[in-house]
Amino acid sequence: MPPRRYLLSEANHRQLLERPPCVAVLPWGATEAHNRHLPYGTDVLEATCLAERAAELADEQQARVIVLPTVPFGSDEQQLDQVCTISFSTLTAHAVLRDVVRSLVRQGIDRLVLLNAHGGNQFKPLIRDLQSEFDILIVLANFYEMVPQIPESLFDVPGDHADESETSIMLHLAPELVELDQAGPGVRNAFEIDSLQQPGVWTPRPWSDVHPDTGCGDPRGATAEKGKEYFEAVSAKLAEVLVALFGAAKGELPYL
Ligand SMILES: [Zn+2]
Repeated sequence: MPPRRYLLSEANHRQLLERPPCVAVLPWGATEAHNRHLPYGTDVLEATCLAERAAELADEQQARVIVLPTVPFGSDEQQLDQVCTISFSTLTAHAVLRDVVRSLVRQGIDRLVLLNAHGGNQFKPLIRDLQSEFDILIVLANFYEMVPQIPESLFDVPGDHADESETSIMLHLAPELVELDQAGPGVRNAFEIDSLQQPGVWTPRPWSDVHPDTGCGDPRGATAEKGKEYFEAVSAKLAEVLVALFGAAKGELPYL
């Protein structure tokens, strides 16, 4: 098997010169506790594998895409009391993203998909700023929001961190790293200030106090089969985005 031309970690200079990529994908994760049964690298692995699978599907349709190395750290300010949690501040995230964008634009790559796997990462203000500064179309894809009907129909217990859906994906991708028999129930303690729990009102969760086992949502009904179905559905949707961006003509809204 030759090196895969759509993965920057494998592709060589000759391959990229012969077939220059037009659309870049930047997977972005976080490194943090995921209940007691999933690895700290869960979000990194999800972002990486989804980007690779989507790029593979897009490559099969002749779209010239390139998956960049995954950014391993995200916004984890509310988890810094938990051992070995590393957090990027928003200024750091902006600086990293800006340097990636600045480099790509220099090489004529003017379409970037930011594939986010961590709910604490908020990229919209950064993208607004950078798209104004550089001649590039930046598209945000929060993978966990891309196929909303699947989490609703496929999984029994809702959650948003190390839950049944995320555990199922990990059972599909890396079952050897999942210790499901160690999982806690993923309880979420309600805020005691009641009026802070109404629509439109928000403050971050003090994570360790709100989630005693660090997870949100009971993961114990997870299966690899559910994970595969969800993973493939998201990958297919993401591939659609990549193929569409590759085929987009300059001037076609919103690619101006
Ligand atoms: Zn996660």
